[in-house]
Amino acid sequence: MSVLTKITHQLARRLCDDRRYVTRAPAQADATGPAVYLTFDDGPHPDRTNRILDQFAESDSKATFFVIGRRARRHPQTVRRILADGHSVGCHTWRHWSARQLSSQAYVDDVRRSRTEIEQITGRKIDLFRPPYGELTPVSLWKLLADGFRIIHWTRDTRDFQLPAIPVLQQRFAELPMIDGDIILMHDDASVTSYALHSCLQSWEPRLQFLALPMATPGSHRRPLTPRSTDQPLARMERVPAGSAAE
Ligand SMILES: [Zn+2]
Repeated sequence: MSVLTKITHQLARRLCDDRRYVTRAPAQADATGPAVYLTFDDGPHPDRTNRILDQFAESDSKATFFVIGRRARRHPQTVRRILADGHSVGCHTWRHWSARQLSSQAYVDDVRRSRTEIEQITGRKIDLFRPPYGELTPVSLWKLLADGFRIIHWTRDTRDFQLPAIPVLQQRFAELPMIDGDIILMHDDASVTSYALHSCLQSWEPRLQFLALPMATPGSHRRPLTPRSTDQPLARMERVPAGSAAE
């Protein structure tokens, strides 16, 4: 993480609403038990993403897929299947540029292009955004927040992008210190992930639930910026209602 991103991160954590700049999900402080949010970046991949979706279909677990716009344009059916299967979709830029590689305006335009493509494919409002490499600049962050995006970071990294052997990834996943509200980083374009996921899920499903991050509801695309409140409890993230993701 660059120095500029660290400064951006510190500023955002002090100034932004926790629900708009998300570094971990609020705890599920009720009887439903601990919840963890699996996230998959860099897809869709025509084979690997569908293999992952096949494995999710064997369980009640859900996830969030941060798709790259130009890949979504090549594989729109896979993007639609993600939603039809009850998962969430977010934006991960058009070309997977880092915010440090482009001017702020060019970067935001790249994100907007991706959002427009995904919205045309899905018919849904897209407000979840994950910056590639976690990199952001203060100006790009502010523009994205003003655009109505919620910035989603992660708390645990499986490092599946290193393409470890399947048993290594399975063991790494089983030994993650997952707690309520964790957001787990994975990649659906990683072949190893697409083969290891089923046993990864099985290692944790008896102890916690895997939920999809809630997407924007119709009419809520542009949300007013709200200052961070430190004296009010966070509104708990709502579950994605069954069937609503396929709208
Ligand atoms: Zn990425």
